[in-house]
This record gives sequence, structure tokens and C-alpha cells, in this order.
Amino acid sequence: MHQDHRALGLAPLSTVARNSVSGAIDIAQGKPVQPVTLVRPHAAARAARFFVEKFPGRSMYAVKANPSPDLIKILFDNGITTFDVASIGEVRMVARTVPEATLCFMHPVKAEEAITEAYFKHGVRTFSLDSMEELEKIMRATRNASDLTLCVRLRVSSEHSKLSLASKFGVSPHDAKPLLFAARQAADALGICFHVGSQAMTPEAYADAMERVRAAIVDAAVTVDVIDVGGGFPSTYPGMEPPPLERYFETVHRAFESLPISYSAELWAEPGRALCAEYSSIVVRVEKRRGNELYINDGAYGALFDAAHIGWRFPVALLREPESTVRDHPFSFYGPTCDDIDHMAGPFLLPADIQTSDYFEIGMLGAYGSAMRTAFNGFGSDETVIVEDEPMASMYAIVEREAASNVVKL
Ligand SMILES: *Cc1c(COP(=O)(O)O)cnc(C)c1O
Repeated sequence: MHQDHRALGLAPLSTVARNSVSGAIDIAQGKPVQPVTLVRPHAAARAARFFVEKFPGRSMYAVKANPSPDLIKILFDNGITTFDVASIGEVRMVARTVPEATLCFMHPVKAEEAITEAYFKHGVRTFSLDSMEELEKIMRATRNASDLTLCVRLRVSSEHSKLSLASKFGVSPHDAKPLLFAARQAADALGICFHVGSQAMTPEAYADAMERVRAAIVDAAVTVDVIDVGGGFPSTYPGMEPPPLERYFETVHRAFESLPISYSAELWAEPGRALCAEYSSIVVRVEKRRGNELYINDGAYGALFDAAHIGWRFPVALLREPESTVRDHPFSFYGPTCDDIDHMAGPFLLPADIQTSDYFEIGMLGAYGSAMRTAFNGFGSDETVIVEDEPMASMYAIVEREAASNVVKL
């Protein structure tokens, strides 16, 4: 969305028309020429409340998943008051958007100037690191501050996740001991953090990672004050339907309780995707049909980066009235730019009679969809509309319905 680009100091894409309608179908009836981003504040608020109420520790929001200031305010208002930031651009934007928030700078490789500004200007006290070099850098940049929470990032397996974060960051088990020891000397509070990879499909991912944490603590024989289980909590997509989030929380809690740490130690998490996936979707138009291929007006350089580059599948729904009664058929998409890379293989299931100038919604794009958009080749648009209908899938809606029916039973 345009605010994201502006917020991070990038060029805004174009103008916004901001109104609120009840659902995606209303947007299609307006026959927009450009793709329209739909946002669902109620879905983000529900996800935030879910983590606040059910995760057995502190949940922060990993801003990179979707840096929309509107979203950040919604999360803040619903109890997510700590934010995992990874760049000075994110630090400044969140500090400006929600000045009361607590920021944790969780990128293990930071510019020294960014650390200095974060510490002295924005009150950031929590930093992650995965090397001796970074530890020295943080100490230099903060002039040997004595009030730091330093989180050592451990390398863990990404085998249970759809998107690996295993090779770039994290100290290996072999090198963890001296680093934990040195960080303990420098820190006011010592943390251990990790990231199991994005869209972890089983709670076992966290159980396995916590075993690495246990081994590292035993090996280094240090007192640990914070265990940060990172992100990776899943959302739901076609062909990637995970178990309920409560199961993840139970696994994390059980593992945390059994670690050799003091009983005042804190448990943190840094969900990105799980807090924002349901927040937004897009309405696109079919510009051409060629057999099973639909040429649409958004694509790999727009909100569909993951659909194009890592074969992610998103739910789709034709927006036509009266509704098509024709059976679903698998389609792939081409985006609007002039290159072959702008291709989303899917398959995406849509009624077989879909045709040029039909509109459809592509759901669950709140995480790493809106955040990745560009204006390459002159395509893309910033039109954003607030809608009140349900997201196309949800990790939270069923829970809320069950809660409502329990109330009725009482
Ligand atoms: C990307 C990232 C997250 C968020 O990951 P999700 O899979 O979106 O939950 C959290 N922490 C760190 C350090 C990250 O890099």
C-alpha cells in the first residue's frame, strides 16, 4: 500500500481512494481498472488479541511481514505493544507511528550507525547478534551501555517450514558457547533467539529448536533471562493447512517450562505472518484468457511475489453476480509486466467459465504480499479499501465462533 512505501522513504506509487464497503463483491461492481487492495482491520485485531490472550509469553510483531502504519496501529491497539524491527527505516517508522511501543532490533547484522541511532534516539535496548564481531559493534555503537538485552541468535533447522531461514543467520552450536559467555558479560539481560523458518507446518519445529537451546545453555553454563522463539507461526493457504495455533503454543510452553533457566525468565515470540496474513487481499481483473492461463493486472512485481517466486498458492474467488455455477478448473496466471518471470503457476481453482473482464479476489496477501509491491513497468496501484467481510481463510474465525457459541450455551 502506498503508506508502506512512503513510511519507508520509498516513492509512493499513486493516489489513494479510501472508503469502506461491506465486501469484495462491492469492489468488483465498481469495475476498477487497477488492482485494488482490500484491508480487513477486524481480522488483524482478532489475530492480535488471539496472541495476546493465548501465547504464554510476550508477542511482538515482526514488522517486515507488512510495514503498514495502519496495521501497526491496529496491532498496538489490540495489545501487541512490542515490535521486532530489522532496519533503521523500520525503527523510525514504528517510533513515529506508535511512540509508546517497545522496539527490539532483531536483525543479527546491523549497520553501526543504525544501532547508535536506535539506542540513543529511539530508546531501543534489545538487540540480536550471532557473532563476536556484532557484539563488539553493539558495544561500540552504544558506548558500552549497561542496560542492554542481548539476544544470541542460534542456528536451528528449517526442515518443518515452507521458507527456510536456516543458512543466513544464527551461530552454530559449536560456536555458541564463547558467544553466549561474552554476551552474558556485556548484557544486562541475556536472551537466546532463533527462527524455525516461515510457515512452520508442525509444532515439532519449535520442540526441536528448543532442544538446541537447551544444549546451548547447558554447554555454556550461563544464566539466560529471555527465550525468544521467533516467528514462523503459520497462516492457512490452499494445500498448506497447519494444525491450530494453540498446539504450537502448548509445545512452546512445555519446552520453555523444561529449560534449565530461572523461573523469572521471560518467553517471547516474534510472529509476522500469523498476525497479518488475513489483513489484506487484492481484487484483480482478467485482461485476457489463453486456455488455462489468465492474464491479470497484478503479479510478481505487485502483491504476488511469493506466488511467482516460491510457488505459493493463495485462495481465489470469482466476484461475479449472479455467481457462476460452473465447476472449478485449475488456472495459472500471468501478471501485467512484459517478462516471462511474471508468472504464477498455481494451480488456482476458479470456475471454468471465467473470462476476460471478470474480477476475482486473491486472499491471504497480508503477509509478504502488500509489503513487497513495486511499481515496475508502470503497473501497480495504491487504491486501498477497508472491507468488513471475512478473509478468505482464517486461523482465528472458528475459534471466535466457538467462543460465541460457548457464551450462548452458558
Ligand atoms: C521474518 C522474521 C520474523 C517473522 O517471521 P514469520 O515467519 O513471518 O512469522 C520474525 N523474526 C525474525 C528475526 C525474522 O527475520
